[in-house]
Order: sequence, then structure tokens, then C-alpha cells
Amino acid sequence: MLLSKFFIPILKENPKEAEIISHIYMLRSGMIQLSASGIYSWLPLGKIVLEKITEICRQEMLKAGANEILMPTIQPAEIWKESGRYDDYGKEMLRIKDRNNRDLLYGPTNEELVTEIFRTHVKSYKELPLNLFHIQWKFRDELRPRFGVMRGREFLMKDAYSFDNDYKSSINSYNKMFIAYIQLFKKMGLKAVPMKADTGPIGGDLSHEFIIIADTGESVVYIEKELLNFNISSLNVNYDDNLQDEVNKYTSFYAATEEKHNMNKFDNKINNLIKKRGIEVGHIFHFGQKYSMPMKATISDKEGKNIPVFMGSYGVGLSRLVGAVIEANHDQNGIIWPKEISPWDYNIINLKSGDVNCDNICLKLYNIMKNKGLNILYDDTDERAGVKLARADLIGLPYQIIIGPKGIKEQSYDIKCRKSGDISKLSYNELLNLVQTKK
Ligand code: ATP
Ligand code: MG
Repeated sequence: MLLSKFFIPILKENPKEAEIISHIYMLRSGMIQLSASGIYSWLPLGKIVLEKITEICRQEMLKAGANEILMPTIQPAEIWKESGRYDDYGKEMLRIKDRNNRDLLYGPTNEELVTEIFRTHVKSYKELPLNLFHIQWKFRDELRPRFGVMRGREFLMKDAYSFDNDYKSSINSYNKMFIAYIQLFKKMGLKAVPMKADTGPIGGDLSHEFIIIADTGESVVYIEKELLNFNISSLNVNYDDNLQDEVNKYTSFYAATEEKHNMNKFDNKINNLIKKRGIEVGHIFHFGQKYSMPMKATISDKEGKNIPVFMGSYGVGLSRLVGAVIEANHDQNGIIWPKEISPWDYNIINLKSGDVNCDNICLKLYNIMKNKGLNILYDDTDERAGVKLARADLIGLPYQIIIGPKGIKEQSYDIKCRKSGDISKLSYNELLNLVQTKK
């Protein structure tokens, strides 16, 4: 991508309305624009990252055997009246009337709607287990929308729903999602720690939140030191296996959100307990027959008896993750994207656009790298070198290749690692060799 052709409205000043670093950097680097309180437009840079995060999540869900569907944002009130949540949900739910005076709502979550889809079509134990997921915008009229996309009112969520014949099998389905979450956050270059969690308005008996430790997080968590240092391994998971042992590796540590924290359960490990703040990026729930019972989503079991299906639901905050990644990966100069979700792999910076030598070598390199299948952002704009370098740090791609008249004269080019700040000086051939092996 040529930067001169890319719509990236950079802000020079820190926006006044932003309190935390991810919000400041997302506005400054032109990733998002406020539309109304807690509601944002995603501009090209933001959209690219949001898509990358979404795609990693989608692929892991598919790998875990879930089927992708797409439910609408607008739902009829009737099904929420059936489950009993229409009144319970309170002011967070945006209620709408259509021209015929029918009650609609903008979905804050989808347990009811997916249960309705299920009960229409699935009648027998033979069709289970089943997991349906979708990636869709949600609306919650939050009391205090803040921190940009971290606590928005409109936000993108991946939500999956499992359906099983009995309790045991539904715990299996829960475990699959538990491990899928460990994997997908890892694939985003993140460490999200699973914690025992409260079930809130979704309900149920078993629940874990996945938390990224960050000082600006809204959640208070208690966690055993060892879990914090635990190296989450990238497993080659076989989702057909029973994953209970894998899950136990994590749940054998003490980790709980403030609501679930119980000092008595911790007694002898007291010195190992740390209190931290964190960002909730995922939340999984096992709630059995809570919705299937009132909504009469029943299946006939092996004996031909009708029983309400056993369910769980599993959410990932995709738009929140964009902010959360930045909270966990930045410095005073800007964002430092983990390579897994970086909008591009390399940033070629032409320090003197218009200089024939600089232009030639940059363009040549850009084309060679592009043909190698690398993703490149080439800063070919005619701004001052200082402006370009500061902007490159703000945008935060993993590597910058900095080319200017001085380097050309000395036949030595700078490649800077954004994370460490280390600069290596390389000849053109060394540079080519490096980028060809780096991918
Ligand atoms: P929170 O406690 O942060 O309000 P929640 O527990 O109400 O979240 P869930 O119903 O568990 O949220 O939703 C699943 C995921 O959706 C959350 O783990 C979070 O990552 C994301 N999410 C929830 N509310 C918001 C919001 N207002 N803005 C952005 N993401 C959100
Ligand atoms: Mg939650």
C-alpha cells in the first residue's frame, strides 16, 4: 500500500476526550472516528486491524467445529418475553418500535434468537452436539460509554452457542470453547488469562472470563503468580479429543475476578496471590437449560423422551480487542502491533520523496517485497523526514526500513525493529536477504 493513496487522517494533537492510551492512539492514527457517544466509524487502518482480529477468531471457531451463521442486529421482543429477559435487561437494551407499533430491540446478545433457530429445526439427540456462532454488531446502552472502543455502546462481538444432549456432553462443548479461546488469543499475539467469573445477566453455573492484564483495565482480578508467568503453549489441538485435562492445566491455578474472589479458597497460597487490573476480552458461560426450558427448545433423547437442550454461550469482544491490544503493546511514541495482527509487515519510509535515487530504491524494494507476498506500507508522501518517522512509530508496524540520501551514499540502510527500537545497518543485498527470510 502506498501511503499517499491511503486514507489515514492523522491527528497532530492528543484529543481531549481520550483518557487512556489506546483511545488516544486510535484517534491519533486515524483508526476510528466518533459518531455518537460510544459509537464509532472504523476508518481504513482501524478496519484492517479489526478484520485481522475477526478472522483469527473466525478460523479458530471453524476449527473447533462451530458453524458460522449471521443473525440480524434487530430482534423481535417476543422471544425475550418468552425467556423472561425482556424486563430484566433494563435500560441497557435499546428498545425500538416499528411503524406497526411492534416491539423490536437492537440485540445486546443472542441467546434467545439462536434458541429460536435451534428449536425450529433440531428435534433429535442424533443431531447434537451443535455449535452455532456469528460475528455481529451488538448494542448496549451502557451507563458510561468510555475509553473509545473498549466500552462502546455499539460493538462487534463473536458469539457462539453450544447445544448438547446432557450435562456431561455440554461440559465437553464448554471445554472446547475454553481451549479455542486460549488458542485464538495466543494467535493474536496476546496473553489472555482465564478466570473464574460471575455470570451476570446471561446466567448459569459455570463461567470464565478471559482477561488481558493491563493497568487501565476496568476489571479487578486476583491471580496466582504462577499463572501469570505460565507459558500458554500453542497447541495443535484436536478438538475431537476430550479436552478436560487441557482445561485443568489452567483452572488448577487460582484466578478469579473480583466478584468471584474468595479468600478462603486461597488460604495457604496467600504469598503468591497478586491483585491486578485487566481487560475482559472474552467470556464463556455454561447455563444448561436456562433458556431452553422457558423457550421450550426440546429434543427427543435416546428413550424418546423430550428434554430441554443443554446450552452454553461464548463471547469475544472483537472491537474491544483492538483497544486492548494497544493497551498491552505500546510505548510513548505509539502503537507496537504484535506481528500476528499488524496491518502490514513492513513500513518502507522514503526520507526524501522526489529524490530520484531514494524514489528508485524504495520503489524497487517495495515491488520486490510485494512480489514475495509480504505486506508493505510504503511512505511515499512528500512530508518532512521527522514527520514520517514520528508517524511510522505511531502506526507501529513491526519493522521500518528507512531509506534516505545519506544511506544511499553510504550504501547502508536502516532497518528498525519497532518493539526494541534496535536499528541494524544493512547493505541492499543484506536487506533483501533479510526480508526474504523474515516472513
Ligand atoms: P463488561 O463486564 O465489560 O460489561 P459483559 O460481561 O457485560 O462485559 P459479555 O456479555 O460477557 O460482556 O460479552 C462478551 C464480550 O463482549 C465481553 O467479554 C467483552 O469483551 C465484550 N463487550 C461487552 N460489553 C462491551 C462494550 N460495552 N464495549 C465493547 N465490548 C464489550
Ligand atoms: Mg462478561
